[in-house]
Amino acid sequence: MQINLPGNVKQIIEKLNKEGYEAYAVGGCVRDSLLGRVPNDWDITTSATPQEIKAVFRRTVDTGIKHGTVTVLLGKEGYEVTTFRIDGEYSDHRRPDGVTFTRELSEDLLRRDFTINAMAYNDETGVVDLYGGTEDLENGIIRCVGNPDERFDEDALRIMRAVRFAAQLDFSIDEATRDAAEKHALDLKNVSAERIETELTKLLVSGHPEKILDMYEMGITAIVLPEFDRMIETPQNTPYHIYDVGRHTVEVIKNVPATKVMRYAALLHDTGKVESRTTDASGRDHFKGHSVISEKIADGVLRRLRMDNDTIRDVKKIVFWHDYGIKGDISVKSVRKMLSQMGEDYFDSYVQIRKADISGQSNYNLDASMRILEQIVGYHDEIMREGNALSIGDLAVSGKDLIEMGIKPGPDMGRILRELLDKVLEEPSMNDKQKLMEYVTKVCLEQ
Ligand code: ATP
Ligand code: MG
Repeated sequence: MQINLPGNVKQIIEKLNKEGYEAYAVGGCVRDSLLGRVPNDWDITTSATPQEIKAVFRRTVDTGIKHGTVTVLLGKEGYEVTTFRIDGEYSDHRRPDGVTFTRELSEDLLRRDFTINAMAYNDETGVVDLYGGTEDLENGIIRCVGNPDERFDEDALRIMRAVRFAAQLDFSIDEATRDAAEKHALDLKNVSAERIETELTKLLVSGHPEKILDMYEMGITAIVLPEFDRMIETPQNTPYHIYDVGRHTVEVIKNVPATKVMRYAALLHDTGKVESRTTDASGRDHFKGHSVISEKIADGVLRRLRMDNDTIRDVKKIVFWHDYGIKGDISVKSVRKMLSQMGEDYFDSYVQIRKADISGQSNYNLDASMRILEQIVGYHDEIMREGNALSIGDLAVSGKDLIEMGIKPGPDMGRILRELLDKVLEEPSMNDKQKLMEYVTKVCLEQ
């Protein structure tokens, strides 16, 4: 089998070969190439030690010398070149106590997590597959290299990686591998939040995010995302729903675009239903005010995962607003106010989650809910077409105008500008310098 190596990768491998070292493309890039997918990045493995790698290439960065990794720079690109290595004991279930370098490719491949990730390639040798990786690729199977029990005991993150690869590739997990993963799921509490976030995010933005249900069944979410288990345990006895909160959530995740922000917003949008659920005399469930609670829970979950601040801000915003318009009591005025409070930038995301949310419910009222959403979109478009003011910066008067009227900068001015915006949100035709100045003298300063 032939893999089309990028020119730079070829060049690095050939240069190492010329100096008498073995070198191969390895891991994810070989797997993805064999599947006809475009690899994320190209990792290279070699018999040369880090010092030897550095002696061969002019421009290098010491990325992780202790673990054998040197980044080779070619033009603007960087390629991680790692010495064949054997991982030492894993006494903490996450990191080897030490690594030793080896001149044997077979030993390097043996330390890798799954058979499909344990293949190497160069043009001269072709695919090196010592552990049945090509066969598992053909059959769509995630299987540990070696004894799964030992492999998960060494590094519990591999448990999440198994499900993440299954979700990206639509593969199933081999039975022995799955059993061992379940057995070691508890060890995930020793794994750092950053590593967990990486795997959870990759699963969520994959083609099969519904495999989060596998994570639930295997006892993984119980450790890394107990909020999800609570949602699965929360029924929704209402004509609007056919699923429990957790399974409804999975439908919504599938229905939003595969971006980090949208998938996390979908994951967390109904977390507040667990606490807010009340059952009335007729046995019907209500979840009043759940989006506010969801927003709080989303904040906690994302901080725990050490998510970046921009993502946290965006996800919280979408979670908070996901329910807007649900009752249908909307008008162009209320949509204008909503856009002003939420920020018009979030409107597309709001529509995406609203649509996905409605599609993940029962057929009861589905058409009516979609019609309300269309109406909201219609009002939004009208507001944008008319160029209605939505923020203080859009007002026809500025702070400077108010100063000229004798108002001092400070809390009073802030209050007046907000009052003007409120007025203009009610009546866009009021956004006129003359009219607003009159309003200031007649109303704002009378108080
Ligand atoms: P992606 O497309 O997500 O980058 P990948 O297979 O390249 O997938 P990486 O996390 O970049 O995954 O790791 C590169 C390679 O290193 C893997 O293919 C695997 O061979 C090995 N590897 C990574 N993490 C582990 C681990 N926790 N245990 C064992 N081997 C691992
Ligand atoms: Mg990779």
